[in-house]
Amino acid sequence: MRLRAFSARCSMNPASVIAIPSELLRALRRARFVAVLTGAGISAESGVATFRDAQTGLWTRFDPRELATPSAFARNPKRVWDWYAWRRERVASVEPNAGHRALVELERRVPEFLLITQNVDGLHQRAGSRKLVELHGNIARVKCSREGTIVENWSAEASEVPRCANCGAFLRPDVVWFEELLPEHALAAAEDAARRCEVLLVIGTSAEVYPAAGLPTLAQEHGGLVVEVNPNETPLSARADYVLRGASGAALPRLVSASWMP
Ligand code: NAD
Repeated sequence: MRLRAFSARCSMNPASVIAIPSELLRALRRARFVAVLTGAGISAESGVATFRDAQTGLWTRFDPRELATPSAFARNPKRVWDWYAWRRERVASVEPNAGHRALVELERRVPEFLLITQNVDGLHQRAGSRKLVELHGNIARVKCSREGTIVENWSAEASEVPRCANCGAFLRPDVVWFEELLPEHALAAAEDAARRCEVLLVIGTSAEVYPAAGLPTLAQEHGGLVVEVNPNETPLSARADYVLRGASGAALPRLVSASWMP
């Protein structure tokens, strides 16, 4: 039976702690398989810009969607390379936050677990998450733009876009751009988890980029409960079984501790 949607508010102020419905706490505690889908919002409290922030921040002259495409790279590889170099440096200089850490704790608590992330920042791994698939790659990795092979040795100092030692083509970040396919294995694992999980937490994503945005529907079609954690309304909000309306750095530690601690 599907539970009715529940919306609760919380803020980053610990004094206004969210009240999480007891049915949700029970469902989480009893679940054999919990899956989690994260987006840029979970890293916002670490200081990594979400897409939305990026559009209003330093890169206001460029739409990230215009930079994160194979055709943008073909037109101007240096501009795209420099944009990723700036993001790579930014990500390397920040730390995982309480939201990332709460998911590490969740992974320890449930028998079967999969963290599916759209993020390319590697902060989940740095926090300690291990059962994880990266749907959109990782900004710290670099690959040959022609052969697709991962390249370990390249210079971040070079003023020009580095080239593949094997074929001479430009190197590029190992991230999935718009118009590109997701890594087959990662997507298959994510879809399998969405079908089999009893609870899917959907955290800090605008739920607009497919195929990741289709995972909550897949989970619900197979009987899973969908819980959104986001301070803002998204296209998923109306369909989610529960909505925790708050920042993930506040809501997730609370959700995990309330589920397992009396
Ligand atoms: P998005 O920028 O479209 O949406 C971010 C969402 O996070 C919004 O719904 C916003 O309300 C929410 N949010 C903001 N602060 C939050 C907080 N403290 N706690 C919880 N939620 C918060 O991001 P998306 O849906 O992940 O977008 C898709 C693409 O952006 C992905 O392909 C991803 O690869 C890429 N991206 C990744 C990073 C990263 O790796 N950190 C950063 C920017 C963009």
